[in-house]
Amino acid sequence: MAEPERERKREKSPEEGGRRTAPKVTAHVSKYIHAMATLTFLGAAGTVTGSKHLLDLGDRQVLVDCGLFQGLKELRLRNWAALPLDPHRLDAVVLTHAHLDHCGYLPRLVAQGFRGRVFCTPGTNDLCTLVLPDSAHIQEEDARQANRHRYTKHAPALPLYTEVDAARALDRLQPVGYNRPVPVAKDVDVEFINAGHLLGSAYARLTFDGHTILFGGDLGRYGRPVLPDPSPVETTDILLLESTYGDRVHEADDGGARVAKIVTDSVARGGKLLIPSFAIGRVEEVIYWLKRLEDERRIPILPVYIDSPMAAAALDFYRARLSELDPLSTAPGERAVTAFCTTRMTVVSSPEESKAVMASTEPSIVIAASGMATGGRVLHHLEALLPDARHTVLFVGFQAEGTRGRQLCDGARHVKLHGHDVPVAARIERIDSMSAHADRQEIMRWLGGFARPPARTFLVHGEPPALQALAERIHAERGWQTYVPKYLERVALEM
Ligand SMILES: [Zn+2]
Repeated sequence: MAEPERERKREKSPEEGGRRTAPKVTAHVSKYIHAMATLTFLGAAGTVTGSKHLLDLGDRQVLVDCGLFQGLKELRLRNWAALPLDPHRLDAVVLTHAHLDHCGYLPRLVAQGFRGRVFCTPGTNDLCTLVLPDSAHIQEEDARQANRHRYTKHAPALPLYTEVDAARALDRLQPVGYNRPVPVAKDVDVEFINAGHLLGSAYARLTFDGHTILFGGDLGRYGRPVLPDPSPVETTDILLLESTYGDRVHEADDGGARVAKIVTDSVARGGKLLIPSFAIGRVEEVIYWLKRLEDERRIPILPVYIDSPMAAAALDFYRARLSELDPLSTAPGERAVTAFCTTRMTVVSSPEESKAVMASTEPSIVIAASGMATGGRVLHHLEALLPDARHTVLFVGFQAEGTRGRQLCDGARHVKLHGHDVPVAARIERIDSMSAHADRQEIMRWLGGFARPPARTFLVHGEPPALQALAERIHAERGWQTYVPKYLERVALEM
């Protein structure tokens, strides 16, 4: 994230003569619902990161999600571009959940002068207290490393924001419980509805002047452990729908069979199993499966190291909000995940302990962040394990373009770590069934809960093939018209 100031640039908007390709599927337009209402897509338009949607009612402005662009450098550079809005004029920010691609730009926005409140659920508030300071720390550290080792051609490299900026952003958070509409600006209310994607995750239902927009955020999945099913919604005038897996169906749940095989193979080879994991939102499910497989005697009892203080702190937040989680996983009995703990689980806190875990050759399971291997302690473990064929690296989440995780899953024979090339001999495995994003079938199932089609459905948060495939599927199965907005596109809200 540490990009030099002089690389700041902003893509031209269509109004400035930038490229705009005609959308393949467009909505029917009959009348304006609001003379001044526009929606501007400042991120997650044609890509899966940087979620930011500006609702502008002329005299009032609300920004829904304030996410960081991640992955390809071309995308990360957008974090340095000036937003086409005046932070002082924004009435409020609303967050759907605490993943960085939905909240990670907030410190930058506050540093630019935003002084309103940031509405979110209590669970999102909790997780933001972990992810925002951590993100700031990583950016400051990356900038320091780049300057120290001069692996940037720009000097000095600056962080996008600092830990002080992150602390100021946290001061603006205003937690609001689920299913309780509250005003966020004059005659604009928000209501959070559990989306089942992460602790605290929600759809944000904004109502203004008798109209409703449902900002879908990220949509969770059905019948998974730990998190509840996505809540059904019956009506909205306008829908923003995520499309991350709009062209794919997740592999069927195999009751832990692949995890069991990967763990036992890894032990048989005398190696270690490294699981790069998002510190929040994925470790819980990994632990659920490991504990269940231990209890069912399908894997040996191994030391499990949680090498992420943030993941350990997030587990505490999950334990504190069991009523918001999957009722089956939290009911008393064998499948309960209330403890979020395996038989021999150790939370690694200090960097020294982390180095000791890294140096140990004992067969073990190490869970470390970040999930796409873009930063964090997992990089040191990768450096140690990748050159050795005995070890296994298991990816359990979406791997965005341009990340080391994607490179490794695509079969890279070497990756760059801390400025030098590291050969890849370790076994690379990937399990998609633990994704927290609905796949195409689950998205269609959720849309099936609507009593009538929204007047407009915007497809966001997807790469182009997924957006196109989902648009076609929705048209074919439900007959709804959809629209795929472009980055920085401003759309008048019509019905
Ligand atoms: Zn998310």
